[in-house]
Parts: sequence; C-alpha cells; structure tokens
Amino acid sequence: MRVKCVICDTIEELVDDTLEAKRLRNRPIHTHMCSNCHDRIEQRTKERIATGNFHFYRSSRKIEEDF
Ligand SMILES: [Zn+2]
Repeated sequence: MRVKCVICDTIEELVDDTLEAKRLRNRPIHTHMCSNCHDRIEQRTKERIATGNFHFYRSSRKIEEDF
C-alpha cells in the first residue's frame, strides 16, 4: 500500500503486513510520517525532553503546525 508523509509529502510504499500498514488501515485518522520526518521529530522530542520543555502532541495537525 502507498502512503504519503503528512509533513513532506513523500510517497512511501508500505509492505501490507507491517504493523504500520495495519494501523493505517484500521485507523484512517492515523497519518503517516516518512522515516526522515519521524527521525526529525524524534530528535526534536528528545531535545525538548532535555530542555524540560516537552509537549507531547497527539494529533498530526499539531505536529504540522510545529514545523
Ligand atoms: Zn516526511
């Protein structure tokens, strides 16, 4: 299945029986991030934790606004 990154619009091909593919199918509201953006967010999250200014954004919209 093809998925599009919500942040940079990169199209990625997901193997159908991966955990993420199943998650996306079962929960259409769940949005996909490519590995680049995922790593970037993870990095930013770690930085926030390190500075004590950590906010966990549940929705992808919040993450989008954050960029
Ligand atoms: Zn991306």
